[in-house]
Amino acid sequence: MEDGEVVHVTATVIEHAQRPRNYGKPLLSNGHARITGECGDTMEMWVMVRDDVVERATFTTDGCAPSLACGSMATTLAEGKSLEDAASITQSDIIQALGGLPDEVGHCAALAAATLRAACENYAKAAAQRHEPPPSSAAGAQCSSCTDRSCSAQTRRPDESDEEFAQRQALQQRLCRIRHKIVVLSGKGGVGKSTVAVNLAVGLAKNGNSVGLLDVDFHGPSVPTMLGLEGEKPYAQNGELLPVSRDGLKVLSLGFFLESADDAVIWRGPMKMGVIRQLLKDAAWGDLDFLIIDSPPGTGDEPLSVFQLLGTVDGAVIVTTPQRVAEIDVRKSVTFCRKLGAPILGIVENMGSFACPHCGTITSILQEGAGQRIAKDMQIPFLGSIPIDPRVAELADSGIPIIEAHDSASASIMQHIVDEIGRRLST
Ligand code: ADP
Repeated sequence: MEDGEVVHVTATVIEHAQRPRNYGKPLLSNGHARITGECGDTMEMWVMVRDDVVERATFTTDGCAPSLACGSMATTLAEGKSLEDAASITQSDIIQALGGLPDEVGHCAALAAATLRAACENYAKAAAQRHEPPPSSAAGAQCSSCTDRSCSAQTRRPDESDEEFAQRQALQQRLCRIRHKIVVLSGKGGVGKSTVAVNLAVGLAKNGNSVGLLDVDFHGPSVPTMLGLEGEKPYAQNGELLPVSRDGLKVLSLGFFLESADDAVIWRGPMKMGVIRQLLKDAAWGDLDFLIIDSPPGTGDEPLSVFQLLGTVDGAVIVTTPQRVAEIDVRKSVTFCRKLGAPILGIVENMGSFACPHCGTITSILQEGAGQRIAKDMQIPFLGSIPIDPRVAELADSGIPIIEAHDSASASIMQHIVDEIGRRLST
């Protein structure tokens, strides 16, 4: 470009450069490519292909405005197209859709087209290697054979688009195969909610049930650490997400997807809702007796999304510490569950007493019986009281839930809580 030469760019280019669509690494993808173009810009693209259709395409680039505009337009054009059509999108298709592009940055459109094609080819190659049977149609067949006319997924809501209805049906197909959904809640973080969720899942599995554990605590997904699964990655196959297995327990945690614990903290509400939906809808949970959900703490939008997406919850377990101030939080959690029509399985009191690591004696250190009193006042069952036990934390840090320690009073208490929950649900 000569000095002083005026370059005209279209409003569409400006719009896509300033507010690129589909920007960022997705949670779930099954095709990926990263290409550095002749200009030195690197573009990375991810596609999520299901039933031979590119359901979602996203990208990142270290290039500036024209690269952003081209990546944005390429991924926008690809979504909803067949794999073959998406892979055939050309440099000129992108330029045309942008309403034109100055010649000197035309290579950005070529880079976007090449990266998209490579991501589609990457998916096709991996699919061929796996000799995939036709994807998720099996789940669809199951739903259409369902004769339960009262199921909410049979009828479309007046305010729903085709896509929203299809998504809700897909989610319902998964959830239909889960007998009991239990949400573990707490008024605030750090009270032992994940500890209870993990031990409940492991304990129910030990009792011979098929169990899944879903950790959607955006504030600090600690399940991978507590189960010794750090560094594990769920495998995406056939458009489905295969949970990580730990002795038969199926585990999915946000922690598997986050590069840093801060990543999820900056996500906004709709994005969090989308992630929870994806983890429920796309996960190959199969047939489960129990799905335990380690919910975000509090009674705000995040736990609300969990309950809304699950539709029906068989029981909420509220975890609390026994101080007076915690009472307010428990009251809020109870009101929250009652408003949502979720039965409360009971309260678990954590860290109200102390288990001596030497002799095992349990000594009250906070208000004795406070958890029991809170439960009585609020007319909900009391499930048990777990002492502060240094072994609970030490073992959790090394990936072993306390319920697996045979010689511990805390393990027996935990097992009793698990059995009590199992008993309440079976009656
Ligand atoms: P939350 O999910 O409510 O944020 P966590 O279950 O992650 O809380 O527990 C917070 C920390 O406290 C973890 O390091 C956990 O190992 C530890 N912890 C939880 N319960 C106990 C207990 N009863 N005794 C000792 N440490 C505990």
